[in-house]
Amino acid sequence: MTDLRLPKRATGDPDDGDGDLRCIEFVELETEYLDGALPSTVRATADRHVAECHGCSVFLDQMRRAIVVTGASPREDVPSLILERLLGVFRELSSPAGGA
Ligand SMILES: [Zn+2]
Repeated sequence: MTDLRLPKRATGDPDDGDGDLRCIEFVELETEYLDGALPSTVRATADRHVAECHGCSVFLDQMRRAIVVTGASPREDVPSLILERLLGVFRELSSPAGGA
């Protein structure tokens, strides 16, 4: 029985090749991303995710605007209310459209 697999994050090594980043992981990285504080390998992974993920590109755009409007530092944690809304958006985006 050797099929016990650890989640990728548990390895603590984001630079393990295939650059598979989840939306929630991007959200967690996002303040460092805006702050230019990510290691280049992680940043490249994040860039690729944003390029392919509509939800995260919208999120990033909104965060940039929020920073401009409020003058807040991106170092601030994402307010939990915003985070909750975002997770709702992500859920809608990722769930199969049941209607129509
Ligand atoms: Zn995403």
